[in-house]
Amino acid sequence: MANFNAHLTGGAIAGITAAGGALAMGWVKPLPALAVAAVGFVAALAPDVDHDHGRPIRYVFGLATLLLPSATLYRVAPLTETTQLAVGSWVIMALAVAFPIRWVFTKMTVHRGIFHSVPATLIFGCLMFLVAARREAALGMQLAVGVAGALGYFAHLLLDELWAVDFNGRKVRVKKSFGTAIQLWGVSAPSSLLAYGLLLALAPLVYQNLKDGELTEQTYDRWVLRDQAPESMRPITRTLRRKIHRLPDNVKGAPQAPKKVGPGR
Ligand SMILES: [Zn+2]
Repeated sequence: MANFNAHLTGGAIAGITAAGGALAMGWVKPLPALAVAAVGFVAALAPDVDHDHGRPIRYVFGLATLLLPSATLYRVAPLTETTQLAVGSWVIMALAVAFPIRWVFTKMTVHRGIFHSVPATLIFGCLMFLVAARREAALGMQLAVGVAGALGYFAHLLLDELWAVDFNGRKVRVKKSFGTAIQLWGVSAPSSLLAYGLLLALAPLVYQNLKDGELTEQTYDRWVLRDQAPESMRPITRTLRRKIHRLPDNVKGAPQAPKKVGPGR
């Protein structure tokens, strides 16, 4: 496998490439492009979250402890309504990532398992895309961050694969670990199924966000709460509205039963 420094270099290259591409496409302005580069860099370290010991997991979880709570606060705007709420939720999330979540990870993951795979790359990109918006969709930035995330992640897998090949002179020898970094199916069936399930759940959210230019919760508000879904979706959205919000069948336009106003007896 590629060593840690190789991944740092790979991450830097992926980050700069993604930021340059995003600038060239007009997706972001120069200052936010720095954030895009940082996402690509961090993404190139992320797959080794499945390492149980040593530097990778210390760095990855160190970064995750800082970045995951911050990203969540950024994305879930109501959490930043007051300073106390923001600080409190940041601390709780950071502690959760640093201890229980890290513990579960080291117990449940296999190195070079599903985290070193194509579906994991796509999941990471989709998550980054969805996280990069705040109160409303910002498609340029979201695309840039999503692509930077997937590119950095993929750069890691690519380096792991390249390091499994010895290029000494003309002889090319392939190590046993070749083919374990970029895989479509992980070592265990349940984790692979889970990964594809997650990808199937995230892909429509990304698609809807791109197509309508609004966030999932905004579409939900519009379709379900304000009853503005396309005609073909109405039976579903209305059922949802009744189920979740326990509204009577025909709230809209239903004639109100006249109140009985009797003579004051
Ligand atoms: Zn790796």
